[in-house]
Amino acid sequence: MLRVENLHVFYGGIHALKGISLEVNQGEIVTIIGANGAGKSTLLNTISGILKPKEGRVLFKGHPLPSKPFKVVELGISQVPEGRLVFANLTVKDNLILGAYLRRDKENIKKDLDRVYDLFPRLKERKNQMAGTLSGGEQQMLAIGRGLMSAPQILLLDEPSLGLAPILVQTIFNIIEEIKALGKTILLVEQNAYKALSVADRAYILEQGRITREGLARDMIKDSAIQEAYLGVK
Ligand code: ATP
Repeated sequence: MLRVENLHVFYGGIHALKGISLEVNQGEIVTIIGANGAGKSTLLNTISGILKPKEGRVLFKGHPLPSKPFKVVELGISQVPEGRLVFANLTVKDNLILGAYLRRDKENIKKDLDRVYDLFPRLKERKNQMAGTLSGGEQQMLAIGRGLMSAPQILLLDEPSLGLAPILVQTIFNIIEEIKALGKTILLVEQNAYKALSVADRAYILEQGRITREGLARDMIKDSAIQEAYLGVK
């Protein structure tokens, strides 16, 4: 469904992605595991059209992606950015409606809003609250809900568990599995390697801008080198 071919991305003289290739098939959860600064956000921002690669390309269903980020969203790719970035001075409901900003199918927008409220009852309870006054975990739920409101075929999640208390981390990962069950494809970037490998079908390890390993998530979670480097097991 999504295919990344030999991406090279630079920030000025910094070579952040050094020839990344990967693919995400329909209905899969694929995770990218990597330490701080490995290039995870750079990869997602390149797929969603925010950054331009110097070399390489991104294909969606066999076609190169358009260069404008909003066109990428229209095609069915939605990114939930790291750090949530909700609109603090708008209500929860208005934040969600904004996620559907490029859509014209009013009836389905209403249905999707109900679906997001089913997935996140907490957001339904707080639909008239200003987003800036939500807790960190609630803001993360809102950011994911807003991403779903563009009716994506593939959701790009950038560190959805960052900074959350353990119980909320579990809630977010449960929701990621529920979103998969709705038929969505997910590319998940995470530092919480254990949780990410627990929900994912396949995984890639990103180190200093290069993919160093790839495989089935259930194999990787048992691999001693990966356990030592990323799962805190000696
Ligand atoms: P983290 O988990 O800490 O967010 P990451 O894996 O997402 O890390 P990136 O944010 O993609 O990593 O950064 C990859 C590399 O590119 C890092 O060395 C970083 O310092 C550098 N970098 C990222 N953004 C910029 C920028 N705007 N200007 C210059 N260098 C940047």
